[in-house]
Amino acid sequence: MLLGIDIGGTKTAVCLGDRKGTITQSARMISRPVEAIDRYFEELFALCDQVMFDGGITDQSAIAAVGISAPGPLDVKRGLLLAPPNNPGWIDVPILKRISARFPMPVYLNNDANGCGLAEHRFGAYRGAQNLIYLTASTGMGAGIIASGRLLQGATDMGGEVGHMVVDMAGPLCPCGRQGCWEVYVGGKNIANRLREKIETEAISTIILDEAGGKLENIDHRAFAAAARQGDPFAVDEWNTYLDRLAQGIGILIQSFNPDVVLLGTIAIKEGDWLIKPLQERLERYCWKWPLEACTVAPSSLGEKIGDLAGLAIALTGLES
Ligand SMILES: [Zn+2]
Repeated sequence: MLLGIDIGGTKTAVCLGDRKGTITQSARMISRPVEAIDRYFEELFALCDQVMFDGGITDQSAIAAVGISAPGPLDVKRGLLLAPPNNPGWIDVPILKRISARFPMPVYLNNDANGCGLAEHRFGAYRGAQNLIYLTASTGMGAGIIASGRLLQGATDMGGEVGHMVVDMAGPLCPCGRQGCWEVYVGGKNIANRLREKIETEAISTIILDEAGGKLENIDHRAFAAAARQGDPFAVDEWNTYLDRLAQGIGILIQSFNPDVVLLGTIAIKEGDWLIKPLQERLERYCWKWPLEACTVAPSSLGEKIGDLAGLAIALTGLES
């Protein structure tokens, strides 16, 4: 059996599963601010014990490895979280050392987008595809890139940080300090911020606001998509811009990596063909027809389980390395 730990900005999940990706136990807890990080680790270890107990594991030697899926940027070799944007203050947290100290079996770490790419490669509908790109399409935009059957880790573990490819030199400022990063246009958090600002400063009347219960602060990707589906002119216009930018980045990736398949998480799982079809129609503007014709673009098949499966896939990949 394998133990997976999926660390997020607000929640942390622990699961128990096998090498085929069958999850037998799963439980979650809140992620703590950096001031309470010792308490966080205590709670995490208690949850691991609980999950193993509930899964009938009485002897830790029954666990072959632990896989930690954590928000980037991180340093895999040194086992550090560097500065995860949704865990403020978690700077240089020695996550691998702290968790390894608690367990006798090997513990492996990778970033969540890489973990999801590995999970798709091992357990998803396109498992075994030699060239596969998973895109988070969530609050931010990260990728897990499988190239010629192997995860593209990169020299400093930043292979797949595609959200910060600059796609417009004169574009808006990204929190990372550069201008016109892809994530500025296609990351859920940045989109919601921009919509709020436009609606407020230009006094725009739009169903997006109704979908958010009349509150600017509640505007999110769901409200945006719902309003665009209803034909709200402002929302449709913004949605088309979003699709153009999404296609631009994916086109660059198809042109660069020649993947068999590009899988999109979160937003694409929810919106399905309504998002995928117009996205596909736009792709020929951004890449050659040969790699495009060879590439399937689809929502992730693993749904909400992908976070748990990412931890298991990281454990399994670590054991085989
Ligand atoms: Zn950036």
